[in-house]
Amino acid sequence: MYDVQRIRGDFPILSRKVNGRPLVYLDNGASAQKPRVVIDAMTQVYEEDYANVHRGLHTLSTIATERYEGVRGIVARFLGLPDPEEIVFTTGTTEGINLVSYAWAAPRMQAGDEIVLSVLEHHANIVPWHFLRERQGVVLKWVEPEPDGGLDPQKVIDAIGPRTRLVAVTQMSNVTGARVDVAAIGRAAHERGVPVLVDGSQGAVHAPVSVPDLHCDFYAITGHKLYGPSGSGAIWIAKARMAEMRPFLGGGDMIREVTRESVTWNDPPMKFEAGTPGIVQQIGMGVALDYLMGLGMENVAAHEAALRDYAMERFRGLNWLNLQGTSKDKGAIFSFTLDGPAHAHDLSTVLDQRGIAVRAGTHCAMPLMAHLGVSATCRASFGLYNTTAEVDALVEALELCHDLFG
Ligand code: PLP
Repeated sequence: MYDVQRIRGDFPILSRKVNGRPLVYLDNGASAQKPRVVIDAMTQVYEEDYANVHRGLHTLSTIATERYEGVRGIVARFLGLPDPEEIVFTTGTTEGINLVSYAWAAPRMQAGDEIVLSVLEHHANIVPWHFLRERQGVVLKWVEPEPDGGLDPQKVIDAIGPRTRLVAVTQMSNVTGARVDVAAIGRAAHERGVPVLVDGSQGAVHAPVSVPDLHCDFYAITGHKLYGPSGSGAIWIAKARMAEMRPFLGGGDMIREVTRESVTWNDPPMKFEAGTPGIVQQIGMGVALDYLMGLGMENVAAHEAALRDYAMERFRGLNWLNLQGTSKDKGAIFSFTLDGPAHAHDLSTVLDQRGIAVRAGTHCAMPLMAHLGVSATCRASFGLYNTTAEVDALVEALELCHDLFG
């Protein structure tokens, strides 16, 4: 049974107060809190097992390397993948997508080639493609969301043309929580010979993921949203795509041999991991993913679906609350504004006074904000430890905002 109170006990920060009130942490879309096992594991490595990885023959380096390299297998298991060698460590999704842009897309794309992407995307899945537009004349083809904030996979498929070289799409909007049927997009894109990149930053946090079922070529995750440390992350890259990639960053670890005249590369995935990596961060991410698998992602998904339904029910009573994105298959991420003059920042400040952490602004998704016709929203994003009592606390605080500003 999913015992949310017991699970809350795993997260030390949830017992603190903010502005004299119990913390209600609803900014999980930005970054999630860390369970004690992750914090303890990282401390333990620093206290007992820390050394640089791959280079040393001494005992600590061997232990650190084994633990660090073991995380590839954990990531692969978490994503339903058979081969840890296809997991490249990154500092997060932003680095993962930039890696694909520089190492795979840039050398292959010519002026007039097209990348299909949706208006739902986070800047991390927009700006690296703008680089190619600026430098190489690559054309960005945008797919509009539906009126309910969802994305019609057929519209993405219809946008694929003879010059399309990549489809880059999110699995879940970080603004509205809309889920995208990336499997349908992936299947159709592959039938047309077009590779697919999936931004799994939010999707992997809220439901089980089996990457082989998504028919994609690149799948990026970011550790800090998965209850692991910041500076951790990974991208799965299909072997065939890896073979087409040149290195992105150069330095130690990614080489086989360096002479004055030439350099040869290490085998993937190390070919794409230059320099000393986030050793303890990645180990922490591995522990976080093990923790999630221990809870069972299907249980996390069911818990969050219940929270979503409860919140939607409570929000229905607030006719001055403008919810952005109400697609049926959405996660427990809610972006909203209030009728009246209150800016999202004002709302966030009032909520913070009551111990409630939400995000206000454009959520690194300016094209989506422009599409929605709003300059900013407040976003309450729920995670595996949130409760219906916290939904009530949010609603009560929003009622107060309405009284203050309405
Ligand atoms: N993509 C989505 C959908 C996100 O929500 C985020 C983070 O907010 C990112 C990409 C970027 O992740 P990171 O900043 O960890 O690289």
